[in-house]
Amino acid sequence: MQTSTLSALRAIIGESRVLTSERDIALFRSDALTLFSCKPSAVLEPGSRKEVVACVQVLHAAGIPFTARGAGTGLSAGALVPEGGVLISLLRLNEILEFNEDARFAVVEPGVINAELSQMLADSGLYYAPDPSSQLECTLGGNLAENAGGPHCCLHGMTAQHILFAEVVLADGTVETWGSPTAAEDDFDLRGFLIGSEGSLAIALRIGVRLTPLPETAQTLLGAYPTMIEACATTADIVASGIQPVAMETMDQRTMQVVENSIYAAGLPVEAGAVLIVEVEGTPQQVEQEAAEVEAILNRHEPLRVEHARTVEHRAAIWAGRKGAGRAIRALSPDSYVMDGVVPRSRLVEIMKFVAEIESETGLEIANFFHAGDGNIHPHFCYDASDKELTVKVERAGIRILRKCLELGGSLSGEHGIGLEKEALLHEQFTPETLALMDRLRRVFNPKDLLNPGRGLPLGKGCAEAFHRHGGHSNA
Ligand SMILES: Cc1cc2nc3c(=O)[nH]c(=O)nc-3n(C[C@H](O)[C@H](O)[C@H](O)COP(=O)(O)OP(=O)(O)OC[C@H]3O[C@@H](n4cnc5c(N)ncnc54)[C@H](O)[C@@H]3O)c2cc1C
Repeated sequence: MQTSTLSALRAIIGESRVLTSERDIALFRSDALTLFSCKPSAVLEPGSRKEVVACVQVLHAAGIPFTARGAGTGLSAGALVPEGGVLISLLRLNEILEFNEDARFAVVEPGVINAELSQMLADSGLYYAPDPSSQLECTLGGNLAENAGGPHCCLHGMTAQHILFAEVVLADGTVETWGSPTAAEDDFDLRGFLIGSEGSLAIALRIGVRLTPLPETAQTLLGAYPTMIEACATTADIVASGIQPVAMETMDQRTMQVVENSIYAAGLPVEAGAVLIVEVEGTPQQVEQEAAEVEAILNRHEPLRVEHARTVEHRAAIWAGRKGAGRAIRALSPDSYVMDGVVPRSRLVEIMKFVAEIESETGLEIANFFHAGDGNIHPHFCYDASDKELTVKVERAGIRILRKCLELGGSLSGEHGIGLEKEALLHEQFTPETLALMDRLRRVFNPKDLLNPGRGLPLGKGCAEAFHRHGGHSNA
C-alpha cells in the first residue's frame, strides 16, 4: 500500500489503530474456517461510524480492496481480503444506541456481540431471538452479513426475519439507510439484498433489530436413540405432525462424549448413538399439550430413553452443552472443517446415511451436531491440516456431501454462507443466467468489486489465486 494511503488512514483513526506488523495481523489471516488464509496488508480498527466512512472513502479512492470483519467466527472464509487488501475490524463499534421497549426494537452498532444484546435486555422481558451457537462471540454485523441461524431459529426464523433496517456505507463511501423501524415508511426496501450478501454490497454501520418477548414457559425433551438415523427419522415425523417446536437439534455420540468431557458437560446420554433435543414454548397449556405430543412421537421411534429437562438450570445446561459443542470438539484434532449444507427435512435420513457412508469409505473422522429442525447439517471433519493429503481428502469428501445435498433438493448453504469455501460449486446449484443476474445486482452497489471481492459468487481468474488454500487444491 502506498505510504500516502497509509498516512491518510492513520490521520483518520490514529497511528495505533492501523495494524501492519506481522504479529498484529497474524490473527486476521483466516476466519474460523482455517482451510483458507490470506494476509491483509493492513487491519483498520476504526472507533466510530464516521471513521469507518472516511476510511472507506480513502480505500475507494486508492482502488484498494477491503472487507469488513466482525468477530471472525465465520465458517466459509468470508472475512478475508486478497493480498494487498485491507480488513476493517468493526469490533470497536459496539454500542447499543437505542432501546425502544414499546415498539420492541433496538438500534445497535455492528460490533455488538449477539448474546450481549439479550443479556442487556434481560429485565425487559424482551430478547433478540436468533441464537447462533457462536453467540457469545459473533457480532450482529456478521450475523446480518451471513443471515445467521441458530437452534431457536427453527420457530423464530433466521436473522433476516429480525432486521428492521440498516444504515450502510457503500463501496464508494456513500451512506444510505435501508428499511425503517416502521416498514410502512419505506417504499423501496433493499434489506433483502443486504442480509446474507456476505459483506459484498455494503458495510452495516447501524442495525435496527426486532425484539421478541421471552416465552411464558418452555419445555425441553431429549430422545436418546441407538443411531443418528432414528434421530433424523423422528425429526421428520415431528415436522410432518404439524407441531412447531422452537428448536430441534441433534448430536451424535462422538460429540456428546467430547461435550461431557468438557466444561460444557450437561449430563447428555453418552451411551446413545445420537440425541434429539426438542424444545416447545408458549403458554403453559400450549406447552403441556405440545410436549405430550412430541413425547409420543419420540417414543414411537424406539428410543433408548426419553427425558425432560428437570429444572431451568438443567435446560440451560443442555443448551450450553449443545452450543458449546463447536468449541469442545476442538479437543479431538488440531484442525476441523465444519460443513454447512441443507436438505428438505424429509430427506434428513438419506443425507445422514450418505455422511455415514463417506465416513466408512474414507476412514475420516466426522462428528455430527446440527440444526435438524431446519434440515441444516454440519458434518464436522476432525483432521490435521499439516497433512496435505489428508486435507485434500477432507475437502473432496465435503464436496461430495454438498453435491448430495443438491441431489436431494437442498442447498449449498444453510447459514454459514458461500464465502470462498463454496464459490466453485455455485454453478452446480444456479444457472449461468442466475449467477450473471446476481453479479449484475452486486455491481449496482459495488461496481468495482472492491468491497469483499468475489465473495458469495464465483471468483474471476486471478482473484481465486489470490487466496491460499491449505490443501493447495482447487475444488473446481
Ligand atoms: C463454534 C461456532 C459455532 C457457530 N454456530 C453458528 C450457528 O449456529 N449459526 C450460524 O449461522 N453460524 C454459526 N457459526 C458461524 C458464524 O459464527 C456466523 O456466520 C456469524 O454470523 C459470523 O459473525 P462474525 O461477527 O464472526 O463475522 P465475521 O466472521 O467477522 O464475518 C462474516 C462475514 O460478515 C461480513 N461482515 C462482518 N461485519 C459486517 C458488517 N458490519 N457489514 C457488512 N458485512 C459484515 C464479513 O465481511 C464476512 O463476509 C458458528 C461459528 C463457530 C466458530
